[in-house]
Amino acid sequence: MCKTVQVAVPVPLKVGDGGEFYSYKVPDNLKDGVQLGKRVLIPFRNSRHVGFIVGFEKPPPNIKPRSILDVIDEKPLFDQKRLEFLKWVANYYVSSLGIVLKVAHPGGLGVRLRRLIGITDNGIKALDDGELSARELLVLRTVYNAKGITSKKLLALIESATRVSESHQGNELLNSLRRRSLIEFNYELKSNPKVKMEKIIVAGDGANLKSRFLERKPAKAQILEYVLTHGSMPLSDLKEIFGNLGIHLNWLEERGLIKIRLEKVSRDPFSEMKIPKDFPPELTVDQEIACSRLREFVQAGKYSPFLLHGVTGSGKTEVYLRTTEEVIKQGKEVVMLVPEISLTPQLVRRAKGRLGNQVAVIHSALSDGERFDAWRMASTGEVKVLIGARSAIFAPFKNLGMIVVDEEHDSSYKQDESPAYNARDLALVLGKITSSVVVLGSATPSLESYCNAVKHKFHYLKLPLRVENRSLPQVSVIDMKHVPVDVKRGESRDNIFSTKLERAIQDNYNNKRQTILFLNRRGFSTLIICPACGDVQKCPNCSVSLTYHVKKNSVSRLESGMRMCHLCGLSEKLTAGCANCGASVRVYGVGTQKVEKELKRLVPKASVIRVDRDAVQGKTKFLKLYDKIQKAEIDVIIGTQMVAKGHDLPGVTLVGVISADMSLGMSDFRSGERTFQLVTQVAGRAGRGEEPGYVIVQTYDPDHPSIKYALRQDSIGFLDNEIKLRRELDYPPFSRLVNVRFSGRFESETSEIAVSTGEIVRELISKLPSGTARVLGPSPCPIRKIRNRYRFQMLLKSHNSDVLHVLSRKILALTSKRSERVRVSIDMDPYNFN
Ligand code: ADP
Ligand code: ZN
Repeated sequence: MCKTVQVAVPVPLKVGDGGEFYSYKVPDNLKDGVQLGKRVLIPFRNSRHVGFIVGFEKPPPNIKPRSILDVIDEKPLFDQKRLEFLKWVANYYVSSLGIVLKVAHPGGLGVRLRRLIGITDNGIKALDDGELSARELLVLRTVYNAKGITSKKLLALIESATRVSESHQGNELLNSLRRRSLIEFNYELKSNPKVKMEKIIVAGDGANLKSRFLERKPAKAQILEYVLTHGSMPLSDLKEIFGNLGIHLNWLEERGLIKIRLEKVSRDPFSEMKIPKDFPPELTVDQEIACSRLREFVQAGKYSPFLLHGVTGSGKTEVYLRTTEEVIKQGKEVVMLVPEISLTPQLVRRAKGRLGNQVAVIHSALSDGERFDAWRMASTGEVKVLIGARSAIFAPFKNLGMIVVDEEHDSSYKQDESPAYNARDLALVLGKITSSVVVLGSATPSLESYCNAVKHKFHYLKLPLRVENRSLPQVSVIDMKHVPVDVKRGESRDNIFSTKLERAIQDNYNNKRQTILFLNRRGFSTLIICPACGDVQKCPNCSVSLTYHVKKNSVSRLESGMRMCHLCGLSEKLTAGCANCGASVRVYGVGTQKVEKELKRLVPKASVIRVDRDAVQGKTKFLKLYDKIQKAEIDVIIGTQMVAKGHDLPGVTLVGVISADMSLGMSDFRSGERTFQLVTQVAGRAGRGEEPGYVIVQTYDPDHPSIKYALRQDSIGFLDNEIKLRRELDYPPFSRLVNVRFSGRFESETSEIAVSTGEIVRELISKLPSGTARVLGPSPCPIRKIRNRYRFQMLLKSHNSDVLHVLSRKILALTSKRSERVRVSIDMDPYNFN
């Protein structure tokens, strides 16, 4: 029986000394329930938290531990082996173990802490004493009568009683009462509901009387019309179409034209998906070789990493599925990572079609309860395969046999915030700990993985041909420098399509084939400028220019559009007059919406869809679109990188890359690699069916190596060339980087802390043997300000990751004492330098 436990708490690593857990006493009545891997309710600083039991060592003698309040779980969430892995993550990414544990258990695993406000004995006395203001008295009375109430409810009650908005002062009022011990905060554990509730809109009984009410209210009439034609529909779908429609809905509801119902829904798109049984095809020779090599290592049950380098359409998925069957035969389990689950329906479909209900899918449309179920089924072995995005690397399998990382080059495996882990890299660490086979698959391997294969750290498997002897698409390049600007078209001087691409789109449409057009910029126009004074509209919160977006069906007038910030989400109506001088503003630059509009002119009868973050907001929407594309109901798909991700769309024969240059302008050392991957991947969407495919790439820089190699789809050539550059410049994987980022509301304070930290770090490094580490910066980030926080960064470079860890912890220790207002984050092996 243990008297004390060590608890990891999900709060940021403060001191940076690795002491990320806290000691607690276990009261007698809870002793039986205490076990490694369970969660406990604990007092922490001034409030209560949920923490994880991670050990049982005695606290240091100078520490007087407090007592835990409750044990939450019946069964542990993790064992010693898994803890070892999670500790590795916390340590390597310089994050707190508590936060890693929280991230590793998605959806909070179905518990929340609810804060209830209660009255104290002092408070009850004060009710009569009368030393209080009227508002304070009102609050106290309400709390007294309610016997436990959340602050949100309390403030709403007060607000309706006084008719004064309390939102910004309410919390202050509560805190002041609490400081005087008149009220207290109690915490209650609350299980999250297993099911999601959703608002459903249905036509009301009075809906047919609409004409009388709606003659002069076109917006409301439109909404009602839509509801009438579709029967019932979720509010979220309606919002996707009409934007924010709060007042309209209330108005319609008050008049009985619609009804709003709350319904329990589990709209799990993957469980609703009709899945035909999938029969294994006969393997190609290369697939056969790859599968038999993998089988050998699966049977040996040892850690063995593989790079599966297969050109687009070479049948990598088939290799994953066959090997998965082998792993299951061995009584083991498989984690399959994909960059973005909602964009990879075909992998899910094929895995489920082949392996049935042994497969669970974790994705963002699940409720916390459903997520919890998938997690639980993995931990009990009820399912053998878990497919998910990066966080699925934390799946609690007890008997892991293989980890697959599909499209391993994809940067979405890297998490931006702490712990800034890369699931691709973690797959290797976990593989080692669990003695598993790790398969990293890609048509355009990352330089890191390729180097590992060259150095024989990875086994290298190659699928150099497309299945069924399909040819790789023909690619041609158009140098946009030599395409004359078309002035005739009046409003738009942007050249979107070269004549060659224009013809190709028309021909392809006339031949009843599908086309994908790729442009990695959403919105209509990328700049909003005043032609008179030259003012470029910027976001007030971020240092980027605003993008012009049009609403559906309203491209005619400039003012009917919105100006939006892609960083902070600011979205407001465009005002036609310049704020400086009053002249009419103009919009320039091309985004996907504008391409869509141009297409209407080019192929007026074609059915066109747009696939980008704006058009595909709902998590299930892509699935619907994807079905339509597969059924050939769509002629042209225009999209951002969302269309580049591994889709297998046999009807697509033409791919047009409208501008291949978007990512080349960026200054980080991976921009060439990213451009190569993007162009090659998009091109790879063409000609995957029986008809051959062709690709037209428009660029201003046709001689850039990334473009040249992409045109030939020559990954090895590109990688060999890129390796030379990286080695010369001593960039990863030849060195290690950590990006230390400082952000704060006040530019001068943030800058000052960044600069002085930089000086201390330089000083520290100067004492190490020369060449051990280097500092670059600190300097302002390329995006100087996001959400009103000023940003600075400092890159540390070394050949030894331990050195970087020691320095990072020193930096955290130094800065945490300096200012509460300046946040310092550590990004190991960074991908994002903006
Ligand atoms: P990749 O992921 O390498 O781009 P996929 O795994 O999506 O390729 O396979 C491309 C297409 O080829 C899919 O439609 C798949 O069903 C089919 N396919 C895979 N292997 C074979 C095979 N051995 N024989 C016939 N068709 C195959
Ligand atoms: Zn912004």
